[in-house]
Amino acid sequence: LVQSSKEAIALENKHGAHNYHPLPVVLSKGEGVYMWDVEGKKYYDFLSAYSAVNQGHCHPRIVGAMTEQAQTLTLTSRAFYNDVLGPYEKYVTEYFGFDKVLPMNTGAEAVETAIKIARKWGYEKKGVDENEGKIIVFDQNFHGRTTTIISFSSDQDARRNFGPYTHGFIKIQYNDKEALEEALQLNNIVGVLIEPIQGEAGVNVPNEKFMQNVAKLCKEYNVLFMADEIQTGIGRTGGLLAVCGNCSCQGHCEKQSTYAQPDILILGKAISGGVYPVSAVLANDEVMDVITPGTHGSTFGGNPVAGAVAVAALEVIRDEKLTQNARRLGEIFRERMNKFIATTDLVTLVRGKGLLNAIVINDEPTSSTAWNICVKLKENGLLAKPTHGNIIRFAPPLVMTEEQLHECCDIIENTIRDF
Ligand code: PLP
Repeated sequence: LVQSSKEAIALENKHGAHNYHPLPVVLSKGEGVYMWDVEGKKYYDFLSAYSAVNQGHCHPRIVGAMTEQAQTLTLTSRAFYNDVLGPYEKYVTEYFGFDKVLPMNTGAEAVETAIKIARKWGYEKKGVDENEGKIIVFDQNFHGRTTTIISFSSDQDARRNFGPYTHGFIKIQYNDKEALEEALQLNNIVGVLIEPIQGEAGVNVPNEKFMQNVAKLCKEYNVLFMADEIQTGIGRTGGLLAVCGNCSCQGHCEKQSTYAQPDILILGKAISGGVYPVSAVLANDEVMDVITPGTHGSTFGGNPVAGAVAVAALEVIRDEKLTQNARRLGEIFRERMNKFIATTDLVTLVRGKGLLNAIVINDEPTSSTAWNICVKLKENGLLAKPTHGNIIRFAPPLVMTEEQLHECCDIIENTIRDF
């Protein structure tokens, strides 16, 4: 084990690929809403590992499920059945209201899976011209890092020199109903792939009715509505899913008028509470039955540890009412931040839903102001990270109390005031 933060950073710099630019803090312990660095300094986590740790760090129930299963059976591959996968599949499909699930490991893999399902559905069910299937995506999207996914990214760092790119994607403006309707009239469209709130782009929240319009238009034009809820899903935005709109019905959303039911739901991150890589693609039978033996798979996808962990993580969301807590605390947070930003020129905007929020710093996107504020926040005991230059995302674990949230708001306000 390393003895100091300096040593850990030096080791990563020398031996690890430089594909990230981390804040200079080396963490060695996490519990609930807190993390500790190697020197023992305590921090509030205000990122939650990009919304994977919604249930809080090292949740005993989730860690317990993992260690128990890890001592019993870890991996069989799908060459054989295992006694955890079936119960997990029943649980997760009932939880989110779909017929079937396809288990994978990471977010990007789940997005790739959804793309494959949509294309195959297009050829086999819709009658789209062979190899001509097209998927509508949105400007500023973030869906992961594979070659196909970066092919339709707007981020030049993510794309440059990684070509040749995968064809078959049409990119339109986010939150633009007319642009979507126009694109849907093109030939051979099989699906629309969308984040209900664009997290990486800086917590871009569309108009209230936009997702319902996406669902409606997809139905009208017979294309699959694919919701990437990897970052927004599982309580984060104050609904079980962001497509749930304003209802807090915890999995019975189909009765609610605000629910924009996707044909394909893509989940990752918090489906394991951040303790293990688990992702999932959910759909009803008429879509999922295009997947047949040999057409898709993963050695680790659907392994017993993943199944045990995911059930525990979803139970925690429900039993501890974390969705409701995210909604309530999110309102308090934005109310406080809105009052505060009226008193400073440094922040122009606070936006978000539930506990997925961001502030926009009053400086050029290329400036280092947001980064420097995050360094100061770290010194003051709160960990957050800029996204897209001058925007800082604030996404604490959903197990936070109101008192802790106020303490965090004090840290944020004092840091920015002194900046
Ligand atoms: N989709 C969205 C909306 C995400 O936020 C992310 C990760 O940040 C991904 C996909 C990719 O997930 P992973 O990093 O697990 O591949």
